[in-house]
Amino acid sequence: MYFLAEQQAPRLGETLDNYIQRLRSGLHLSQQQLATRAGIHIQSMGKIERGQTQRLNQKTKTGLASALSIPIEYLDAVLCGQPVSTVEKKQFCPKCWIPGTNPDPVWLMQRAKYCLTCGTTLRTRCRNCSEAITDFKHRFCPSCGTAYSE
Ligand SMILES: [Zn+2]
Ligand SMILES: [Zn+2]
Repeated sequence: MYFLAEQQAPRLGETLDNYIQRLRSGLHLSQQQLATRAGIHIQSMGKIERGQTQRLNQKTKTGLASALSIPIEYLDAVLCGQPVSTVEKKQFCPKCWIPGTNPDPVWLMQRAKYCLTCGTTLRTRCRNCSEAITDFKHRFCPSCGTAYSE
């Protein structure tokens, strides 16, 4: 899962080759095993781990993410050299979220637009004053006092 696996998130300043190697050894996989799992060629795998690959195509990313059980967003973060916290989007479903509780991790995915449970468009801001939500512990918008839930 997303939140439980903090050690799976890329560390600040970690490069793609270091990151992949660290996760692979954590899973006790050989390069060949990981390449097979990810559906990519062993030579491409070797290049990635030697730091000769700075960009991954979508298929490789998807394969690696599923082989390593990480969200694709983690790979994107490592590739642009950003910490994962800036990659998570603070957004919530105004119908399903119980304000003050942890949000459903799938809402936080960078590309999530709709709630998977009810289909409502996810929100990142206060519906009244458009102030971005900064903390899920808040039930009301700190700037205008409007409740986040509907
Ligand atoms: Zn919902
Ligand atoms: Zn507001």
